[in-house]
Amino acid sequence: MPETLIANLKVQRYDPESDNPEVYYQDYEVEVEDWFTVLDALIKIREEIDGTLSLRCACRASICGSCAMRVNGEAKLVCKTRLDSVWSPGESVTIDPPGNMPVITDLVADFKPFWDKVRQVDPYMQPTGPVPTAEYLAPNKDMVHLAGVMNCIMCGACVSDCTVLEVDDRFIGPAALAKAYRFVADPRDGKKKERLGVLNDDTGIWDCTRCMQCVEVCPKDVDPMGRIMVMRDMAMEEGFTNTSGARHTESFYNSVKRSGRLNETRLAIESMGVLNIPGQISMAPVGVKALIKGKLPNPLDHKIPSKAAVKKIVEHSEEPSK
Ligand code: SF4
Ligand code: SF4
Repeated sequence: MPETLIANLKVQRYDPESDNPEVYYQDYEVEVEDWFTVLDALIKIREEIDGTLSLRCACRASICGSCAMRVNGEAKLVCKTRLDSVWSPGESVTIDPPGNMPVITDLVADFKPFWDKVRQVDPYMQPTGPVPTAEYLAPNKDMVHLAGVMNCIMCGACVSDCTVLEVDDRFIGPAALAKAYRFVADPRDGKKKERLGVLNDDTGIWDCTRCMQCVEVCPKDVDPMGRIMVMRDMAMEEGFTNTSGARHTESFYNSVKRSGRLNETRLAIESMGVLNIPGQISMAPVGVKALIKGKLPNPLDHKIPSKAAVKKIVEHSEEPSK
């Protein structure tokens, strides 16, 4: 007879209507099968042990995007996460609600900030020009790269774990930016430049720190960070180059092409804007500290011996692909 498996789940609880509305963890021991997902275990707890436990789920087949929550500190769609991939007998698995959103109760978060950000990017087609008299058939080559981003199920896992949203809730965030890409890159939309102009603002595409966490946790391989990087290129191609992010990119690129290595001092100065005197003054204390500690590289380029080879690689990468 197969051995009975008892899983230990440490679940975040919060009841705003209790006399003492505090966040705490409750330990549950639940009998599980070896094929259980985390969601199966949570539902079993709710149905057989503690009917007061609140969680959100619907399809149980990673389609609806309802059940994103943190498992051992990382966002996951719990219907898609096998229990044995995050828990071993003798240990406990910790379940929290998704992050970067207010908690309503237990494992249920308020998705209003998520949807507000999606609305912010005008998530609908805005064609311009005469009204078409027949179906607009977009070429396959223009649409095939959109298939991945259209797989987004709006689960919020990427938003939950975005490291920038954790410190700055004004950032549009990975899900809404991936949604923006879906329209920016669609040849049927007529507002590409206007969209990129808005996304180029302080809280948009340049705010991402490229930590890759959204890529890591997305259950549908949408690659929000990759989409953000493509929109940075698109914005610069459309002439939106007057941001510290765009200047940073240019400076980095020119430095490597020129000398074969990165010149960090010039990078800082050029990213801020050479003519941005108040900005340069504000950075001076950091520069002085770095100088005192011997960490300020010489602003004159140190060319590496094989710089010609690096330049060749860069020039090769600039050639149009055949
Ligand atoms: S890569 Fe950018 S958008 Fe994605 S989680 Fe990190 S900071 Fe957020
Ligand atoms: S991009 Fe991925 S993680 Fe983010 S909402 Fe869409 S499906 Fe979920």
